[in-house]
Amino acid sequence: MSVKENLENIKSNLPKNVILVAVSKTKPVEDLQEAYNAGQRIFGENRIQEMAEKYEQLPKDIQWHMIGHLQSNKIKYMAHFVDLIHGVDKLKTLKEINKQAKKNNRIINCLLQAKIAEEDSKFGLTFDEITNILTSEKLSELENITIVGLMGMSTFTDNKTQIDKEFASLKNYFQNTKKHQTTNCNLHTLSMGMSGDYDIAIKNGSNMIRVGSSIFGKRDYNQ
Ligand SMILES: *Cc1c(COP(=O)(O)O)cnc(C)c1O
Repeated sequence: MSVKENLENIKSNLPKNVILVAVSKTKPVEDLQEAYNAGQRIFGENRIQEMAEKYEQLPKDIQWHMIGHLQSNKIKYMAHFVDLIHGVDKLKTLKEINKQAKKNNRIINCLLQAKIAEEDSKFGLTFDEITNILTSEKLSELENITIVGLMGMSTFTDNKTQIDKEFASLKNYFQNTKKHQTTNCNLHTLSMGMSGDYDIAIKNGSNMIRVGSSIFGKRDYNQ
């Protein structure tokens, strides 16, 4: 199946409120262009330099999402164009994003990453840590970022009950925390679900899914 057909298949079953991020990490720009030609405008990458190179080569109406773990010293390479940063798991990272956004005269939208999986390998904040960030004095001083929601990844497992439980826990926390609105905190986006589990995520209230292999095919190596 072509990239175009894959996109059409996925989109035909998506509820209207769910935003599809096409995860194009490791894929050549030709593949992204094919998705673009089929109407896709939101792409997700997990390495800042790779995303910046693709940004240079592709049409400028693409919205670029950074979905990977962040290295603070590289944030400057994407601060002028990134549309949404999904994987923020430290206040220190928010400060650096704010600094770079300010230099570029922009406000950058961010999601805080919650740790809902069992695996130690997955990054993220506990719900208490998220609450602490959202209510901290420091956050209100970061005028060039807006926290627009939360992101989470389930455990890599075939156990759908477990995945369901993990997504449900994030959904519940999100529902309760959404009320917390300040000038730079406006929680409306819940980014959960990848190729293997986005149906379960949507059932649990996800309104942004990050889909790679179901659109572009398997990646050569796992990252
Ligand atoms: C790679 C990746 C995805 C997409 O994974 P697929 O299983 O290929 O859909 C989604 N989210 C994050 C954070 C990723 O790193």
